[in-house]
Amino acid sequence: MRKLILPACLCLGTLFGQNASVSPNLHFDLNALDRNANPCVDFYQYACGTWMKNNPIPPDQSRWDRFDALQERNREILREILEEAARPDPKRDAISKQIGDYYAACMDEKTINAKGLAPIQPELDRIRALSDKEALAAEIAHLHRDGMAALFEFSSGQDFKNSNAEIAQIGQGGLALPDRDYYLKDDADTVAIRQKYLAHVARIFELAGESANQAKTDAQTVLKLETELAKNSLDRTSQRDPEKVYHKMSKQDFAKLDPSFRWNQYFTDSGAPGFQDLNVDWPDFFKSVNAAIGTFSLDDWKTYLRWHALHSEAPLLPEPFVEANFDFYGKTLTGAKELRPRWKRCVDFTDDQLGEALGRKFVERTFGAEGKERTLKMVDAIEKALGQDIQNLTWMTPATKQQALVKLKAITNKIGYPEKWRDYSSVEIRRDDAAGNGMRADQFEFQRELNKIGKPVDRLEWGMTPPTVNAYYDPLMNNINFPAGILQPPFFDKAADDAINYGGIGMVIGHELTHGFDDQGRQFDAKGNLRDWWTPADAKAFQERAACVADEYASFSPVPGVHLNGKLTLGENTADNGGVRLALMALLNTIGDNRAKIDGFTPEQRFFLSFGQIWCQNAREEDLRLRARTDPHSPARFRVNGVLENMPEFEKAFSCKAGQPMVAANACHVW
Ligand SMILES: [Zn+2]
Repeated sequence: MRKLILPACLCLGTLFGQNASVSPNLHFDLNALDRNANPCVDFYQYACGTWMKNNPIPPDQSRWDRFDALQERNREILREILEEAARPDPKRDAISKQIGDYYAACMDEKTINAKGLAPIQPELDRIRALSDKEALAAEIAHLHRDGMAALFEFSSGQDFKNSNAEIAQIGQGGLALPDRDYYLKDDADTVAIRQKYLAHVARIFELAGESANQAKTDAQTVLKLETELAKNSLDRTSQRDPEKVYHKMSKQDFAKLDPSFRWNQYFTDSGAPGFQDLNVDWPDFFKSVNAAIGTFSLDDWKTYLRWHALHSEAPLLPEPFVEANFDFYGKTLTGAKELRPRWKRCVDFTDDQLGEALGRKFVERTFGAEGKERTLKMVDAIEKALGQDIQNLTWMTPATKQQALVKLKAITNKIGYPEKWRDYSSVEIRRDDAAGNGMRADQFEFQRELNKIGKPVDRLEWGMTPPTVNAYYDPLMNNINFPAGILQPPFFDKAADDAINYGGIGMVIGHELTHGFDDQGRQFDAKGNLRDWWTPADAKAFQERAACVADEYASFSPVPGVHLNGKLTLGENTADNGGVRLALMALLNTIGDNRAKIDGFTPEQRFFLSFGQIWCQNAREEDLRLRARTDPHSPARFRVNGVLENMPEFEKAFSCKAGQPMVAANACHVW
């Protein structure tokens, strides 16, 4: 299940390999500039204009940026590892055999097509055989164990107010559209997507053997039931507020919210160890489940569960299911034109399901000690810059500064890959059973999460796999995490000067550190507990400054008629603004008097260009629309220009004048 409070990440792409032979265009690139553009009018165009012209979006992508380019190369390294591991050589080690057989089964489309629905038939039969609504609890537990999302989500997580405790966590869920707003809004775009969703659900039911008429009726039932759940779901922006998703209660009190559901049965059948208390993200949702169990007939519920079983497994079912799934979730929702080749999907499934086994092979092949050492040095320099920044803030009183510094000092960091690898040896992988492998890997993961309940917190665990091109801050752990995959050009380039590296990975480190102090992170203390350590006056001063950022980004429009949600994106935008500022401070501390120009650019100019270029991107309109509703990150153009128009340091570096677009009349500044 998604964590209730998601570790705040950078969200770039996914995969890239260390020490791979990197082609020049993955590095900082002066040829990517549009020298006809004026950096004071549109810096993003100036830094990325020629790159955007020369890098159209490939047909199997919804957007294309410099990280996707890295990701594609990285997939090829993983593909090599997997193809080698997939050769049925008796001398393969246990890990190679496991990831190799998983990949081989996934690639074996012929066997997948020949099996039809057989891998999930037992699940579908069990649903069909349900004799009363009381049996829903046991069936949903079964679905959840097999990795099939339905109705709600159950897992473990740290207690927000006692971060040393792992407790049971239960949350709203059960929707197959990407956000509750798709069920509730009535603008033309949303209505059109809802119509296509209905057609998609019907198509899947038809593929599963229903008559066209029955499939249409069933799709209506699914939409009706999901709409009822959506109405009582907490909106995405509110979900970012930890106080709004923290309701710790006893199992008995929780069961009273929804007496129609046999919760004891569910908890036992789910495989959870015994527990007393759990956190409920949004109690109103569970009250509405209670009402829906009364309102909808047993047949309606069977239809709903059948849909979710088929929907969850579609990517590993026969080709017609995969095609249908892509038509809606790929084409309609993101604008991609073509389904990605099978090998790319199978590499990603392996990374997703056996990620630390594949990641271990990836690290053996690619990751060196040098990347780790130099990254640690930069982390140190940027932490010092944040300490300086906090000391110098004009809007914060000494009492709160003291607390902020305690929190900063307590932040730990993890770089590269886990000290202890996850052991998947209990997961049975068969060379002829792609969907079954998927379900067994999901069972392992579901149980692994539940087993944490009541156990000490494992602070060495990673939330991303090593080849991932991304990074995150976890407010409950108070740590920053940088997988091996991101310690590469254009973020980190051992051949490049400091200005380029601070504009790249330096900004990433600053971004993650700032998350500890954004509108969400600031509510957690040095130990990762949800506790208010701010004086009321300082909290008010913070909120005023944060409101400036929220208003700024809400004014940005990625597609005519669509605006960004300033509050949904506030944490990420705050982290971008703080991250660039801190990285620049650390750069200037590092280079001292060395003001040498390179290629005609000052260190500051190169720093800003490097920052601009890590975000060069082309995106389809559908993708921009989807993300404006669901993504806490702003589109690349605004991640660059939105930050720089707040920075006097940028204005000075490029001699911009008041009144020009890149100089905000009302510049925002939090950190
Ligand atoms: Zn972030």
